[in-house]
Amino acid sequence: MENYADIRDSVRRLCAGFPGSYWQALDRDKAYPTAFVESLTKAGFLSVLIPEEFGGAGLGIGAAAAILEEVHRSGGNGGACHAQMYTMGTLLKHGTAEQKAKYLPRIARGELRLQTFAVTEPDSGTDTTRIITFAQRDGDVYRVKGQKIWISRAEHSDLMLLLVRTSARDEAAKASDGMSVLIVEMKDAIGRGLTIRPLRTMLNHATTELFFDDLEVPAANLIGREGSGFTYILDGMNAERILIAAECIGDGRFFIDRASAYAKERSVFGRPIGQNQGVQFPIARAYAQVSAAAEMVKKAAALFDAGEPCGADANIAKLLASEASWYAADMALQTHGGFGFAEEYDIERKFRETRLYQVAPISTNLILSHIATHVLGLPKSF
Ligand SMILES: Cc1cc2nc3c(=O)[nH]c(=O)nc-3n(C[C@H](O)[C@H](O)[C@H](O)COP(=O)(O)OP(=O)(O)OC[C@H]3O[C@@H](n4cnc5c(N)ncnc54)[C@H](O)[C@@H]3O)c2cc1C
Repeated sequence: MENYADIRDSVRRLCAGFPGSYWQALDRDKAYPTAFVESLTKAGFLSVLIPEEFGGAGLGIGAAAAILEEVHRSGGNGGACHAQMYTMGTLLKHGTAEQKAKYLPRIARGELRLQTFAVTEPDSGTDTTRIITFAQRDGDVYRVKGQKIWISRAEHSDLMLLLVRTSARDEAAKASDGMSVLIVEMKDAIGRGLTIRPLRTMLNHATTELFFDDLEVPAANLIGREGSGFTYILDGMNAERILIAAECIGDGRFFIDRASAYAKERSVFGRPIGQNQGVQFPIARAYAQVSAAAEMVKKAAALFDAGEPCGADANIAKLLASEASWYAADMALQTHGGFGFAEEYDIERKFRETRLYQVAPISTNLILSHIATHVLGLPKSF
């Protein structure tokens, strides 16, 4: 299976210019890693999934996964920009020829950032069919009213894909019918019906709350057919799960690298702490778990790139990788003792960052429910 050694090497070299001190300062101020994102963009790493005809590299999800894994292994975080890689997939697959020609080449060149995907609402939770943000057609425009929460990178994006209801849930034949996806051009929207409120969270993720008060969006910005938006977002979710899983693998390897190095060098009771099996075994277990999860990520990526069904594999990859990275995070903190809590070691920051992936973009329970009901045929609980 392709390992993308050259790409990995280039990403490692780029990331070496953004050491722990860079991320620590941003984390302290909850600031956006603009220089890092510009550097990745300029190197073409964020447009690898865009087909060559639109100016991208036309590579598969395996290459994108290798990029994000290396970013995370270096101690950095791809959360600031990973959505720039895959959000365009909805536009690519379901947009009109005009929409693709208008946006994709500029996204590929890095002139436009499409890295905001607004789905979650305060009262819908994981049950996306319960969203109530509504877009009412009015001649050549839609008028949008409602609210979204946990919408990441909205202040650092030129375009946003917005999931809305275009007919009420109880009017639709199926709960998942009646939703639509709109492209919102942020510069036209902010202050003219769209208000963005940043949310402070336990990690630096540029996430926000959005308020829509009669925001006008041109009807020409509807992606695909009105009412079919839910199926379009499902399409994009496998890519997202595989890429998030790759970030978890990178985090896991980061923790193992750091813990192994520290356990060899830290001497207590007259010997390296790593000579004690009580310290060695958790590191070895983390290595085994991350290695196994990485194979699952590769399998899901290969299926995705071959155009095969990969929903179950993408979910399993994300479940196992997020659990392996969290075990590795806990292990690395324990191995570092008190120093694990010091900012300058990067462990406490990465510990907070990797915890997210058992909740977002989809929580562990919801993946287990998918495996139980869709793969194993157990009765549905909701
Ligand atoms: C930092 C951050 C960034 C995010 N970025 C984005 C973004 O850019 N765009 C976006 O649209 N969303 C984003 N999200 C939202 C994220 O996708 C949701 O938080 C996530 O899907 C979980 O939804 P919820 O928070 O409403 O939890 P809930 O759905 O309220 O669930 C709460 C808990 O209950 C469990 N649970 C719920 N129902 C069941 C059930 N039937 N059986 C068993 N367990 C159940 C869940 O597993 C979870 O652990 C982000 C969230 C965070 C924290």
